[in-house]
Amino acid sequence: MPGTAPGESGPTEAEWAAAVAAVRQVPAGGRVLLVCHVNPDGDALGSMLGFAQGLRWLGVDLLQATFPGPFDLPDPLRGLPGEELLVPATEAYPDPDLVICFDAASASRLGELVDRLDAAGAALVLDHHASNTRFGGLHLVDPQAAATSVVAEELLDRLGVPLDAGIAECLYVALTTDTGSFRFEATTPAVHQMAARLLATGIRPGDISRRIFDHRPFGAVRLFGEVLGRARLEPAAAGGRGLVWTYATQDDLVRHGQRPYVLEALIDSVRCTAEADVSCVVKQVSAHEWAVSLRSKGAVDVSRVAVALGGGGHRFAAGFTGRGSADEVMDGIRGQLDDALVGAEDQV
Ligand code: AMP
Ligand code: MN
Ligand code: MN
Repeated sequence: MPGTAPGESGPTEAEWAAAVAAVRQVPAGGRVLLVCHVNPDGDALGSMLGFAQGLRWLGVDLLQATFPGPFDLPDPLRGLPGEELLVPATEAYPDPDLVICFDAASASRLGELVDRLDAAGAALVLDHHASNTRFGGLHLVDPQAAATSVVAEELLDRLGVPLDAGIAECLYVALTTDTGSFRFEATTPAVHQMAARLLATGIRPGDISRRIFDHRPFGAVRLFGEVLGRARLEPAAAGGRGLVWTYATQDDLVRHGQRPYVLEALIDSVRCTAEADVSCVVKQVSAHEWAVSLRSKGAVDVSRVAVALGGGGHRFAAGFTGRGSADEVMDGIRGQLDDALVGAEDQV
């Protein structure tokens, strides 16, 4: 069984017990609302829909899953098991008996759904961001967990829900998303053991990975070519560890006939730059607003950069919403890099 060894900073036994009780205490006919962070990624959506199927197995009938903002998913995340439980934020129960939040480090990541935290009978937060602000009433926050789905799987297990292929597909999408398909630092033996449990249900990893990661329109391939062609390398940045960055505008998307989600994969083509520890993609979301993705190879804790600029994330992957021009956003980042250098005392 997945678990948190004593001494690690995962949920305490009391927190697990409170979370189990909160789910079990939903009255017959009670309404449960599941919410994940804005612009859902594979972990947010996969954890939420995997858990939703478990709740359905437990007999929760009045069950909704939702996320803030437009009711629109990236194409690769469409068609997951449990998707039929999704409703637009505008239709979400206004005062559910229980609200459960997935993969959101702070209440602001819940957008217009943030009012459900107070309106609900109880609010439970499942997350794995070290920067989690402990919003909501009940917490299962494990900064050691590779994905929120790790926390979700353990809670399902403690609730006595057996894994089936539907749940497993969602949790597998979540786990592979946040571990970069088992390439990142967080890929522990426990992660592979969880993957083994998921695969044992009969899900097809090749099909899932192709659909989620290796499938994009030709227009997106051409768009990537253009955006990568304007990447800049700044070897002296971050105390000489190097910064590589590029940006994509709304006009770029229009010219190539693409939707914004295709840009999510762009950071993976930028971060492989050998000469830079820090990589960054600045993606325009409106005239003066940019979604910023930051990645590090370890010399810089990019979550410190992101938190200083109003966002969040992890040491190796973080993000924030930037305002102004792309150059102004980049100046803001440069101004934080030196303070975010990882000292010898922080080395893991
Ligand atoms: P991304 O670059 O969008 O893949 O995000 C990398 C990490 O940063 C994820 O763990 C996100 O949860 C976190 N993150 C991204 N954008 C924000 C934001 N605006 N506020 C807080 N955390 C963010
Ligand atoms: Mn996420
Ligand atoms: Mn996550």
